[in-house]
Amino acid sequence: MRIGAGVIFAGAVSLLASSVAWSQVPPAKGVTAPQAAAAPVPAPPPAPVSVRPPCNNPNALGIGRTVEIDTTGGPGFGFEHFKELDFLRDKEVVLTFDDGPWPVNTPAVLKTLAEECTTGIFFPIGKHATYYPEILRQVMAAGHSIGSHTWSHAALVNKKLNEQQRKDEIEKGFSAVKWALGKAPAPFFRFPALQHPPEMVTYLGDRNIGIFSCDLDSFDFKASKAQTIIDTVMRKVEKNGKGIILMHDFQKHTAEALPELLKKLKAGGYKVVAMRAKTPVQTIAQYDEDIVKDLKLPTVSSRPVSSVVQTISE
Ligand SMILES: [Zn+2]
Repeated sequence: MRIGAGVIFAGAVSLLASSVAWSQVPPAKGVTAPQAAAAPVPAPPPAPVSVRPPCNNPNALGIGRTVEIDTTGGPGFGFEHFKELDFLRDKEVVLTFDDGPWPVNTPAVLKTLAEECTTGIFFPIGKHATYYPEILRQVMAAGHSIGSHTWSHAALVNKKLNEQQRKDEIEKGFSAVKWALGKAPAPFFRFPALQHPPEMVTYLGDRNIGIFSCDLDSFDFKASKAQTIIDTVMRKVEKNGKGIILMHDFQKHTAEALPELLKKLKAGGYKVVAMRAKTPVQTIAQYDEDIVKDLKLPTVSSRPVSSVVQTISE
């Protein structure tokens, strides 16, 4: 998401708890402590093989071409911030989806992409991946590319975060996605709110992680209805002629807009480019362990105070 709203921090305890509260908590399931409602432990069984199902729709948008990305040195994509790599041809688009996985909306996006036999890149929030690993696995099983979008959607330009905390957000995000998938995702990263602190851009370069800005922002998180998203994307893509499109599988209106949007792209002669990573991201073992440790936190915090603390004299 690009803006925070209705924020309640309730994820696993971390160093960043006081200053980063952008990701959403899962819907209550009759349990007061969100930790107890989410985060199944241990990690799910071995990951299914990513195989795109055969296309049964002769009028589908489909996939125009597939490119393989070597992320050595941390290349940047998306002309809003990075101008060096102009690899898209005229009328080519890349579909990207941030902030999931999330119930209902992410599966709806997956259904539409499957019906149109096309593909996108998903940038999940680490915490959300720990809440709904099974949904993220559906993304992988459908053959889409998956990167990361930090652990808790912290704005990494926030001056309250020191350098180590910013690195923690990046690394823990990748480790959380790896935990959910049972295998390392692509070394593809998108900064929350597309805010790029220079030292973290350098850090990602050292980590050989590609950075994704965008060419066309759908501003779907601001849209009050699906038609607005369709109109915004089509207007921008017709002006630019091509581009990486930023959307959010987290958003209800985006899921609603996608069927018609993809039909309009097809009618307009646009072709989807699939971006695949040459190699998966190399996560750092300590963060992989931290994720497991966090998810194994006991749920005693959900006990009422009276069952923990008893006045026996005063
Ligand atoms: Zn976001």
